Amino acid sequence: MTTRTRFAPSPTGPLHIGHAYAAFVAADLARTAGGQFLLRIEDIDQSRARPHWEAQIAEDLHWLGLDWPLPPMRQSERMEVYQDHLATLWKMGILYPCTCNRRDIQAALSAPQEGAPVLGPDGLVYPGTCRHLHDRAGPLPAGVALRLDMAKALQMLGADEIELNETGPLQADLKLSWTAGELISGVGDVVLSRRDMGTSYHLSVVADDAAQGITLVTRGADLADATGIHVLLQRLLGLGTPAYHHHRLIRDAEGKRLAKRDDARAIAAYRAEGCTPEDIRQMTGFIPSAA
Ligand code: GLU
Ligand code: ZN
Repeated sequence: MTTRTRFAPSPTGPLHIGHAYAAFVAADLARTAGGQFLLRIEDIDQSRARPHWEAQIAEDLHWLGLDWPLPPMRQSERMEVYQDHLATLWKMGILYPCTCNRRDIQAALSAPQEGAPVLGPDGLVYPGTCRHLHDRAGPLPAGVALRLDMAKALQMLGADEIELNETGPLQADLKLSWTAGELISGVGDVVLSRRDMGTSYHLSVVADDAAQGITLVTRGADLADATGIHVLLQRLLGLGTPAYHHHRLIRDAEGKRLAKRDDARAIAAYRAEGCTPEDIRQMTGFIPSAA
């Protein structure tokens, strides 16, 4: 099987050093395996995605010496695919509409019978208020958030553990498997379709990695907590599970994670100062493989 990796930036700001590192890792693993490196533009959040950021990201990546088949996959062009996957999950009876806003969730979580709120990969674990409130029959509901009924989904799969196929150098403290109990209490009923988007990061990433034939998903270790959700979705949707490589994060001098808003760290800013692609590579500490 041809190795296929991808770099999947969101065009909501400039490419920074942390992105460059992620792109180097993905491209290098494809190159050394004689495989393919693909680009995917993660622009489901149309309130924040901007065409000029996409153009700047592509321009910076080319300048760094990376190449990928054109055109890149663009999530905003794939809403029908996401709807089809949601319809599949809906027919399985494992999605339900949720009409709670942030305040409703906070209020439910502070009710006396609730224990301490648990922080999951998507924020506070949902208390389940809407789980049995709405009918799960009929066509896929539109214009409302849809949540995954985590306990029912796991029960349907007969899975008591979800495992990651992690490859490459292992990051410290990386979680490689989740028991059903951990997914239910530590992740909970995640939103798979946001009211304002008609999809979610989790659903789109799983749909697109499958559609692009990605065999090795590389990304920062900060996203590892979401991977249990992704492997679960792959299994529910009958999609293959790729191998994963969660790599280290680039930190600034104070050890803080570089955020996208740190525009001072933008590749474009370094370029304007006369840095070369090699300078950028050295700043990331990335060492290309020999083969
Ligand atoms: N679009 C995500 C980001 O910009 C990356 C998604 C992924 O690699 O799974 O952080
Ligand atoms: Zn709700």
